[in-house]
Amino acid sequence: MKTHLIDEDLFRRLFDYYETIYEKKIDCYFISHRQIPELLNELSGHKNIQTEKIGESVERKEIYSVVIGKGKTKVLAWSQMHGDEPTATAAIFDLLNFFTANDSFSDLKESILNKLTFHFIPMLNPDGAEKFQRENSFNIDLNRDAARLQSDESQLLYEYAEKIQPDFGFNLHDQNSYYTAGRTNNPTAVSLLAPPMDYVKSINYAREKSMQVIVEIFNTLSIFAPQKIARYKDDHEPRSFGDNFAKKGISTILIESGFYKDDHNKDFVRKLNFIAMLAAFQSIAEKDYEKLNYTVYFEIPENNELLFDLLLRNLTLNHNGRNFTVDIGIKRTKKLDAQTKKFFYKSTIAEIGDLSFFYGIEEYDFRGYEIIADKLLSVDDDADFRLSRNGITEFEIKNGFLNKYVG
Ligand SMILES: [Zn+2]
Repeated sequence: MKTHLIDEDLFRRLFDYYETIYEKKIDCYFISHRQIPELLNELSGHKNIQTEKIGESVERKEIYSVVIGKGKTKVLAWSQMHGDEPTATAAIFDLLNFFTANDSFSDLKESILNKLTFHFIPMLNPDGAEKFQRENSFNIDLNRDAARLQSDESQLLYEYAEKIQPDFGFNLHDQNSYYTAGRTNNPTAVSLLAPPMDYVKSINYAREKSMQVIVEIFNTLSIFAPQKIARYKDDHEPRSFGDNFAKKGISTILIESGFYKDDHNKDFVRKLNFIAMLAAFQSIAEKDYEKLNYTVYFEIPENNELLFDLLLRNLTLNHNGRNFTVDIGIKRTKKLDAQTKKFFYKSTIAEIGDLSFFYGIEEYDFRGYEIIADKLLSVDDDADFRLSRNGITEFEIKNGFLNKYVG
């Protein structure tokens, strides 16, 4: 069995061509639900594409599907079931632009659209998206509602899948920036999962196919982001859609957009999403994945949570006259102010202690520096304190940013 099949030259050309066709009206930093019908409107004049309102969120915001292609194999792809995970919503519009553009890739596109029919649901959780929060408007995590199916959005996804009976499902998310690909300090740019249908992680025929397609995605993405693609941990979650769809025999593929160095706006991981999906679609259309050994899936480095946004090493903490050596790991969360509609960062000290087995996206060795704080630092404190080295130099950490040199 082969382990490598991709047409590297084709994907390098697609990678460059992306800059021409990506949807420039959308920015994955924040996507408002109002942009979805606007963008769909522009596509609706196109032959072979049907857009449809398929339902509403709890707060009565429209949810849409886009259908393209006329093939026998059905692919259902949904994004942003977690409202604060917009990267793949943007990537779906990049793909739709690509499929509807007149260009030199018509052979590839024809072959994909003749063999597959796509059902895209961009932004399944518009209420959460508007508040930039994970959950829906009554604070239910939709990806923990696949068993009870209480929220309108979960019911909609479930019923849509029942109606079309997809062969493949693409569950599109963002993961936080604290994961690394393997036990390294390489942030995971994209992680991939073939969700298991039970606690013993059985590999049925549907899951085997997901794993084969993931091997193809991994090989393709590794051209552009080597050592930065990981395998998401496969603990069974009986309340999630991926695991429930896998149980129904839908070959489900979870794609998590992670973090890439200096890509704070996630433009690069959005581009990787585009490449990942095209690699998968081509492989499914040509049935190339069937030639791959699914066990290669387990050789993909595991997604480990080993990072902090800011890691300060080897600080001295004085407590009741005793000195301790501590590291401080700080995490920053992007939040949306409900009133001003402006983003800000909230930072907390996530961990204090021996963090010598962890890494920082940004890190400093502060050996010889002492923490000046009016109280003993504790986890969940706002990251706001000063460091000093005996009258020589002084640093201030405010909101998790090392932003002031005092002395
Ligand atoms: Zn998510």
